[in-house]
Amino acid sequence: QEAHAAEMERTFIAIKPDGVQRGQIAEIISRFERKGFKLVAIKLVVPSKDFAQKHYHDLKERPFFNGLCEFLSSGPVLAMVWEGEGVIKYGRKLIGATDPQKSEPGTIRGDLAVVVGRNIIHGSDGPETAKDEINLWFKPQELDSFISISIGTKL
Ligand code: ADP
Ligand code: MG
Repeated sequence: QEAHAAEMERTFIAIKPDGVQRGQIAEIISRFERKGFKLVAIKLVVPSKDFAQKHYHDLKERPFFNGLCEFLSSGPVLAMVWEGEGVIKYGRKLIGATDPQKSEPGTIRGDLAVVVGRNIIHGSDGPETAKDEINLWFKPQELDSFISISIGTKL
């Protein structure tokens, strides 16, 4: 019987409406590319508030949950899947701490953001959430064989 190659690790990365509005798309993509990670899927979408609540369901008891979901659904979000060895953990390292006041210089939030409510980027925090978030944001055929680009999809 043929041995199956180990599935390459994937994570879900999203540039939030503030990052898109501030023109940080190329800067952020370039940091993941320079590291050596591979872009598997990408699309610009405007999530509904209901969809944002699904994405952030783990945080529904937090006081900032409503504002966070309002904000995520306030404009275009660049949803992406990145692939590579260690991409989940190292992606979080490239992104930096949740609060940009605590993110190290050299990280995306450390270099490009100032306040926690506008920290420009999301990255999955572990293998389970990565799988769940990829499946929430992307259809299987969008992950199949080639980069899928769709502009302005409503979710
Ligand atoms: P991360 O995005 O680093 O994984 P969390 O999952 O803890 O952080 O929180 C999700 C998002 O909620 C953060 O990226 C940030 O936009 C927002 N958030 C977290 N903590 C706060 C807070 N104290 N006040 C306002 N917004 C917050
Ligand atoms: Mg998180």
